[in-house]
Amino acid sequence: MENHKKKIAILGSTGSIGTQALQVINEHTDVYEAYILTANRNVDLLVKQARKFRPEIVVIADESRYQILRDALSDLPIKVYAGAEALCQVVQEKPVDMVLAAMVGFAGLQPTISAIKAGKKIALANKETLVVAGELVNRLAADYKVQILPVDSEHSAIFQSILGEPSPIEKIILTASGGPFRNYTMEQLAVVTKTQALHHPNWDMGAKITIDSASMMNKGFEVIEAKWLFGVRPDQIQVVVHPQSVIHSAVQFADGAVKAQLGVPDMRVPIQYAFSYPFRLKSSFERLDFFKTAQLTFEEPDIVRFRNLQLAYVALERGGNMPCILNAANEVVNRAFLEDRIGFLRMGEIIEATMQKAFFVQSPAYEDYLQTDNEARKIASEML
Ligand code: NDP
Repeated sequence: MENHKKKIAILGSTGSIGTQALQVINEHTDVYEAYILTANRNVDLLVKQARKFRPEIVVIADESRYQILRDALSDLPIKVYAGAEALCQVVQEKPVDMVLAAMVGFAGLQPTISAIKAGKKIALANKETLVVAGELVNRLAADYKVQILPVDSEHSAIFQSILGEPSPIEKIILTASGGPFRNYTMEQLAVVTKTQALHHPNWDMGAKITIDSASMMNKGFEVIEAKWLFGVRPDQIQVVVHPQSVIHSAVQFADGAVKAQLGVPDMRVPIQYAFSYPFRLKSSFERLDFFKTAQLTFEEPDIVRFRNLQLAYVALERGGNMPCILNAANEVVNRAFLEDRIGFLRMGEIIEATMQKAFFVQSPAYEDYLQTDNEARKIASEML
């Protein structure tokens, strides 16, 4: 391994992935250094993190909180910046070895692209980046010779399963927990509340992805993410509902052999692996006990009840800016559901209608994505 500490920039350090990434760094302070920490609005937690980890730089995206943050850290030699532009600048200009993209939503795209253009290695949690602009991001990663290491547990599992395999993938088996409403009827789904939706059976995550998991949009996004990370066709990605979330995903090869990665559901494992790849570091995380894992079960996903999953395949087949439209509409309805402004099933209806209405662009450039995101948000918002 390199003999200097790896300097890590955590974009979104106050979130679920961000805080777990700091736990990983805390376990390996001899190897990693939290060099840049960023948040959107959560000054209190950012200050706590900065006091504990003593980064070079902290950035708060919401500029109205700059002064509070600066005052709270005025006794420490930590540089404090604010604004979305600053996020891009710091990852571009500062000597970080790796950028953990752990912001949520479309907002993660621009800083991730900036980091790629600066040749920084990426640990990617922000799946929306690949959903929105997978083609562009892949092209830039190739041009700037940047490696994108998946943090999403499923994609980390797929990545680990293909290591050392020069042969192509025949099929990806993308596992899904099915979320809290796996066995609900349409009638039941029509009246579920956000409190119920926020109660994921296996994973403790940020609010947005938890709702996406309940609606299976998250799995749809992961299908798109898998296409761009592993260069497979949509028909080579099979979603398999596996409620125990022990098999994190698997890959099938031309001879029929299937390789999978297993473990207890704990995001710190794939986060740490993205940091330490190609090595593995010792961890104190819980081990999988096969004797306590009574049963592993598998089901087909129901794309009638979980329409979002189907919409993601449609967006992927259509290509162009369609996945960007899908993502923008989803961000609008996800928030509206969290604010109790629409029901659970209405989310899919609005996304589908937005996909039909928004202007289609076959070969979008970066500016087209910005425009599409804007337009699709407007269309979806009008339907709320
Ligand atoms: P959280 O909502 O818990 O955290 C999001 C982080 O991003 C926070 O630090 C937040 O700051 C910051 N942030 C939010 N909006 C902006 C913005 N506009 N500009 C700058 N920073 C912003 O999300 P998660 O950690 O759950 O998820 C992060 C990403 O990782 C998502 O893309 C998700 O899909 C993906 N992911 C998450 C998993 C999980 O287990 N949580 C698993 C696999 C993937 P603040 O705290 O101030 O709001």
